[in-house]
Amino acid sequence: MLKVKLLQHTQKPEQTVALAARLCYSAMEISKLRDKLTEEEVRALLAKLLDSGHVTPFEHASFTFGVEGVSRAMTHQLVRHRLASFSQQSQRYATFKQNSFILPPSVQEDEKARELMLAHYEAAQRTYQQLLDLGFNKEDARYVLPEASATKIIITMNSRELFHFFNLRCCERAQWEIRAMATEMLRLAKGAAPIIFENAGPQCVKGPCPEGKFSCGNSKKVRARFKSLASDA
Ligand SMILES: Cc1cc2nc3c(=O)[nH]c(=O)nc-3n(C[C@H](O)[C@H](O)[C@H](O)COP(=O)(O)OP(=O)(O)OC[C@H]3O[C@@H](n4cnc5c(N)ncnc54)[C@H](O)[C@@H]3O)c2cc1C
Repeated sequence: MLKVKLLQHTQKPEQTVALAARLCYSAMEISKLRDKLTEEEVRALLAKLLDSGHVTPFEHASFTFGVEGVSRAMTHQLVRHRLASFSQQSQRYATFKQNSFILPPSVQEDEKARELMLAHYEAAQRTYQQLLDLGFNKEDARYVLPEASATKIIITMNSRELFHFFNLRCCERAQWEIRAMATEMLRLAKGAAPIIFENAGPQCVKGPCPEGKFSCGNSKKVRARFKSLASDA
């Protein structure tokens, strides 16, 4: 089962972004700039940065997430995001845990498909164990494991990269598993920094859908869902 935790983040992420922005435009000392920042000023400044496209100050606020119960098929997509940092459980050193495979919801709902997939997982697990028993290393035995194999990963992204990541991966066009994880990351990030992430999500949250003929056609519904994404972080 998908588990996402916000492990840590930059202290006072919103004030940090605002401070970095003010520094660019002021002759004042850094300590004085920080003293003078009220919440309203932070809110106004961050909105101005986003409107003007001056987004580099958002790189000073970083967020680290711990993710478990996801497939290697999903993390293969995730690690394409080159500006993020990742640490992933190794299949070379950690023995693959018995029957920890992710079953897509569409397959879960179909009895025949579910039986087929579970039989395949079982066979893969059996062969993996047989290879280990024959004395092969984990790094070679793992070649029989499917993309469905469960994994754990720690992700760190700054808020500018998170905006981009949420644009792509909270969108209905993204695959269900990465979309579910990205949406949970956004919910947690909103809890920690509601001003920064107020309009984060798929691109349709703050503008027209850019997907053309691939659009899900549900922008209104999607926008409403992301605007009200609650947080108990
Ligand atoms: C719906 C969907 C379908 C996809 N299908 C495929 C597919 O079929 N095949 C496939 O291979 N991938 C696919 N991808 C992955 C996609 O091509 C990207 O690799 C992935 O989304 C990461 O995006 P990114 O490069 O913008 O992000 P990041 O690597 O996080 O980079 C963030 C931004 O930094 C800048 N940047 C980073 N590196 C460079 C660079 N070297 N040069 C210039 N600018 C840079 C760019 O502005 C980039 O947008 C798909 C992604 C999505 C969302």
